[in-house]
Amino acid sequence: MDFRPSEEHIAFQQTVREFARSEIAPHVEKWDEGGRLPVEIVRAMGDLGLFGLPFPEEWGGSGGDFLSMCLAIEEIGRVDQSIGITLSAGVGLGASPIYRFGTDEQRGRWLPDLLAGRALAAFGLTEPDAGSDARATRTRAVPDGEGWVLNGAKAFITNSGTPITSCVTVTAKTAEGEISSFIVPAGTPGLNVQPPLRKLGWHASDTHDIVLEDCRVPADSLLGPEGSGLKSFLSILDDGRIAISALAIGCAQACLDHSLAYAKERSAFGGPIGRFQAVAFSLADLAVALENARNLTYKAAWCKDKGRPFREAAAMAKLYSTETAVSATRTATQVFGGAGFMEESPVARFYRDAKILEIGEGTSEIQRLVIARGLGLPVG
Ligand SMILES: Cc1cc2nc3c(=O)[nH]c(=O)nc-3n(C[C@H](O)[C@H](O)[C@H](O)COP(=O)(O)OP(=O)(O)OC[C@H]3O[C@@H](n4cnc5c(N)ncnc54)[C@H](O)[C@@H]3O)c2cc1C
Repeated sequence: MDFRPSEEHIAFQQTVREFARSEIAPHVEKWDEGGRLPVEIVRAMGDLGLFGLPFPEEWGGSGGDFLSMCLAIEEIGRVDQSIGITLSAGVGLGASPIYRFGTDEQRGRWLPDLLAGRALAAFGLTEPDAGSDARATRTRAVPDGEGWVLNGAKAFITNSGTPITSCVTVTAKTAEGEISSFIVPAGTPGLNVQPPLRKLGWHASDTHDIVLEDCRVPADSLLGPEGSGLKSFLSILDDGRIAISALAIGCAQACLDHSLAYAKERSAFGGPIGRFQAVAFSLADLAVALENARNLTYKAAWCKDKGRPFREAAAMAKLYSTETAVSATRTATQVFGGAGFMEESPVARFYRDAKILEIGEGTSEIQRLVIARGLGLPVG
């Protein structure tokens, strides 16, 4: 089995790395402090082809594979986790449901702008009373004349309130025990996007609650067959977990990079702190975990690209990589000592940004549930 990135993958990764260094790195602190998504970086990533990566050229994509997508997210996330999640969610949660479950008419209407980075779509699955338990969805869609009327609420929706958000896909009950999905164009009366949420991290990522109040959409807003919405949206999360895993690798790699540099430059007791085994071994352990995380992630992406089953592989990658990222931020902050607790230190931002990786697109507990079920255990 060979799931190493090819020479083309590595050249592409280098291009994204350069882009992140020149276009993102100089602004990270300002964007984090500003607490708003800078949409100009979305357009710039679009110009580089990042939003169209895993989609066919027919719809404006670049016809790349999922591994390329992971490499791009890893490199962007290594510099800025907020921009990394904007890309990951824009592709995986925004454009993918429309590409995978939409009609050609829906694809033609929404995808060209989304894949070019001229627009963002959001994914409304989570509700105030339905997170891990997505079956508990309460939002309802009632047929009305030629269309549907939606009522309900969605919680913590990424990319839902940017100036370039073009639509939000949402799940809603269409009958008892039946959940469907819909594309709701931005600006539809009754699609009430709430003020930006104040978060522990991911400050430059756009997150809002949404209230749907007598929100009327036409019949052709139904995304996929009636009743297929929950299954479709959960399968979108299988892909998304590999992408979050790549984002976590970017975070852990950044922690290792910054810590290595600091361990060589910071002196205590007459020499660099990197000569203390306590420091050196913590970074050695981080390097091992990072290697494992990367292998799990690339393998999951490889399985997806080869059309093999990958649900458990994605869950394992997400579980391991995100826990590695959180632990990496603790290690890095410790290596930096007091300086690591200061806002101007790069590792302080990664420390704040990492925790959500263990929660979004399925918590660590839900990944363990998926893995245990894959082992044939009857866990509920
Ligand atoms: C910044 C941010 C961005 C987000 N973006 C989006 C988005 O774009 N679209 C979207 O739809 N959602 C989004 N989410 C929501 C996110 O996916 C959910 O927060 C996550 O799935 C967990 O759901 P919950 O918050 O309702 O927690 P809950 O489901 O209430 O879980 C609470 C705790 O109980 C545990 N738990 C629950 N069920 C089980 C079980 N069966 N076994 C063991 N433990 C269990 C959980 O693991 C967790 O520890 C976002 C969240 C955040 C914070």
